[in-house]
Amino acid sequence: MAEDNCDNNNDNDIMRIKSLYSNRLGDNGKNKTKVYCTRCPSLILNPGSGNYVREKFLLPLEKISKEEKDGNGSSDVTEVYDKEDKLIDCWRIDNMFNFENIGFSNTVGYFKYLICADCESGPVGWNDLSKGQTCYLSWDHIRHSKPDD
Ligand SMILES: [Zn+2]
Repeated sequence: MAEDNCDNNNDNDIMRIKSLYSNRLGDNGKNKTKVYCTRCPSLILNPGSGNYVREKFLLPLEKISKEEKDGNGSSDVTEVYDKEDKLIDCWRIDNMFNFENIGFSNTVGYFKYLICADCESGPVGWNDLSKGQTCYLSWDHIRHSKPDD
């Protein structure tokens, strides 16, 4: 008997996520809380600025670039990827002005990585250049509560 692995953006899945994460996800599908960098107190997003979506993307887990610091343009990149083809829970931001603070890192193909504007840690998400300003913040790479330590 074929098993449906639920890897689509189907309604049941979104209902499940909504009840699991009711503290961060509002009924309108937008973020309820402020969103912060995981490593510093930088405020990335105010409530109501991102739409919940699930996207397939390979987002490196670790800090990706030191080429900016070196300034030699050579690509000395540590890329530690998550599992391939994993659906990522994220906030979609349609307009860059909706960010409170965000930084941009290197461009890879049609994507630009987003990093913290203050401490430059990341990536916290990506900008899909094929969709103009559309950006995605991965839930696994950001913090939904106020940093207090
Ligand atoms: Zn930071």
